[in-house]
Amino acid sequence: MIKGKPFLTVEQIQTRVKELAESISSDYEGKEILAVGILKGAFMFFADIVRYVQVPMDIDFLIVSSYVRTQSSGEMKIHADLRENVSGRHVLLIEDIVDTGLTLNYLKNMILKRNPASLKICTFLDKKPRRKVDIHIDYAGYEVPDKYLVGYGLDYENKFRNLPYIAVFKEIT
Ligand code: 5GP
Repeated sequence: MIKGKPFLTVEQIQTRVKELAESISSDYEGKEILAVGILKGAFMFFADIVRYVQVPMDIDFLIVSSYVRTQSSGEMKIHADLRENVSGRHVLLIEDIVDTGLTLNYLKNMILKRNPASLKICTFLDKKPRRKVDIHIDYAGYEVPDKYLVGYGLDYENKFRNLPYIAVFKEIT
């Protein structure tokens, strides 16, 4: 059952997505981006933000998993790697939420080994209180507290990803 009020409403999400897209557009003016969505969680944010970014881009996806229930395991599995060659390209990693930072740290190092022209990170949510590795985030939508969030791509056991807003997950027993 879904109850309660959104943590972030559809309006708050969409306003912030457009602001992030404006910053990205101005920072990358005159360049071409390779936007990389990190699936599954980033699918909705990715689809929203790319339509507002005003510079040319190619898109690609990484399918990774690092999460077991609501605990970050730190273990990373690449289910599907990029199809694009990143060498010499301006890669923008697009993530739903940065928590411990382990996932993005791993992916960042993996992509840097492939010699991109540049690599930046854009996340919609930044859960700073739980950070375990120091990782620079170039674009962050909202800083969030240490609560388990669902909706707008974020799941609990693969459910709730389709909610258009973000809510705090609470099991009702
Ligand atoms: P990290 O490696 O930074 O600890 O974890 C990043 C991944 O953990 C995210 O891509 C997301 O899949 C998952 N995650 C972290 N916090 C939350 C949360 O509050 N809700 C959900 N649904 N997933 C989260």
